Amino acid sequence: MNKNINFFDTYISKEAYSNVKAVLDSTRLSEGKLVKKFEESLEKELGIINAVSVNSGTSSLHLALVLAGVGPGDEVILPAQTFVASGLVITQQGATPVFADIKYETGNIDPISVRENITEKTKAIMVVHWGGLPVDLDEINKIAKEYNLIVIEDAAHAIGALYKSKPIGSISDYTCFSFQAIKHLTTGDGGAICTKNSTKYKEAKAFRWFGIDRETAEPSILGERKYDIPKVGYKYHLNDYAAALGLSNLPSLKKRIEKRQEIANQYRTGLSEVSGIKLFDTPGDRESAHWLFGIHVENRESFIKKLSEASIPTSVVHLGIDHNSVFGSGIRQDLVMQRKFDNTQIHLPMHDYIDTETVEYIIEKIKLGW
Ligand SMILES: *Cc1c(COP(=O)(O)O)cnc(C)c1O
Repeated sequence: MNKNINFFDTYISKEAYSNVKAVLDSTRLSEGKLVKKFEESLEKELGIINAVSVNSGTSSLHLALVLAGVGPGDEVILPAQTFVASGLVITQQGATPVFADIKYETGNIDPISVRENITEKTKAIMVVHWGGLPVDLDEINKIAKEYNLIVIEDAAHAIGALYKSKPIGSISDYTCFSFQAIKHLTTGDGGAICTKNSTKYKEAKAFRWFGIDRETAEPSILGERKYDIPKVGYKYHLNDYAAALGLSNLPSLKKRIEKRQEIANQYRTGLSEVSGIKLFDTPGDRESAHWLFGIHVENRESFIKKLSEASIPTSVVHLGIDHNSVFGSGIRQDLVMQRKFDNTQIHLPMHDYIDTETVEYIIEKIKLGW
């Protein structure tokens, strides 16, 4: 079997080609009607609240910190098991990222460790739904309430995921999505921030475009919009050709996640008895969006080589980000589960074009041993 198996793949719907072309043909490329329509469709299709689209997931995380009033002297607790974007936006705001430990079984932040890391300076908790599996949101929001902290969900992996039947994007103070090129729902680059707070929702709409709300700031007779910028704003808005791509890819998202669920089930059944492999936990009260399929494996390098010989790509997806010198903490040996996770995690191919036959082939090859 000579297969060309991709580790990731990008889904682009058939309709996307003509829909994006229509925007290009119109020569009206910036934020317009389609951005608004994309936001309304996200809310309707996924049950998320007050979606404000932006030009990247990183911008949405940064905007959440700005709206939450996080600044110099503040600390934000987050897991090291994430992409550097989550930590960097905290540093960009002049605040300090404080890394909490994770649960080895899921890669998600451990609420017990969050509690241990709270100080007088803690302002917010940023959680990351690793691979698409929602974190323990009840526990996290309970801690936040107790200490008067703001909760920001980095839901870059978790669009379409559910926690106790509630959509991710409808639960905490802020939820941030990414529509980057290899995420399940792509606009090329893009993101969205959701907030339950209606004042912050309005601010988000203004601050994504320098501090001017395009919906309410009408042009005067002189031709320019009437506005006053009260605080520093940003150039973070999405544009209409990106929105056209997102709108075209959105209707199939739920089905595509269901298919990913089936692929995950197939991997789990096929690999459950293989010695040297530990499957991640799948708590029954939440539904993953299955952006990744991760496992823990013994003798990882030999596993990677063996599968590579069978043309099966594998990869670690993000080693703990605390090692980056920009964060100044060095590799935190006290993050015991994070270090253990770093040593054994590996991710198997998971995307919208993978079929059951391919997954069967991967399982068979793994079963031959490494
Ligand atoms: C992709 C990703 C981001 C950043 O999203 P961009 O759209 O690339 O800016 C942030 N956090 C996590 C966990 C991600 O995977």
